[in-house]
Amino acid sequence: MAYYDPKEDDESLLEKVAASGGFLLTKDLHLFKRALRHGIKAFYVNGISFYDQLWSIAREFKLRLDVNPERSFCPKCGGKIREAKKDEVVGLVPPSTLERYDEFWICASCGKVYWKGAMWRSMNRVLEKIKSEIPASC
Ligand SMILES: [Zn+2]
Repeated sequence: MAYYDPKEDDESLLEKVAASGGFLLTKDLHLFKRALRHGIKAFYVNGISFYDQLWSIAREFKLRLDVNPERSFCPKCGGKIREAKKDEVVGLVPPSTLERYDEFWICASCGKVYWKGAMWRSMNRVLEKIKSEIPASC
């Protein structure tokens, strides 16, 4: 479960992480050090670019870098995403998209529809590049 709220203050964020038994991913070095002082598992996200950050996270947690919509959460609202039939998304996506793609996913909470469009392809390109740079032993 990933949790993200840019408005959350440090204190309650750390409490949430501690209560969930999860760990904190942060670009905030100050927050990272505070988490460690509280005995919370934390990882400081290195790197300036999104690419560098993703790479450092993947290396640390030995993540499988695949884009799997069934195990993803809606980037817009954090809701669960499920596969949707083509006729379910008629009227929700542009007609040209409906024509070009056969696979769609829909957010169960906000109803946003996803498909393997340009965003998807660029994410996959980044992931492939990262995978090719991680040593095979990871
Ligand atoms: Zn949503």
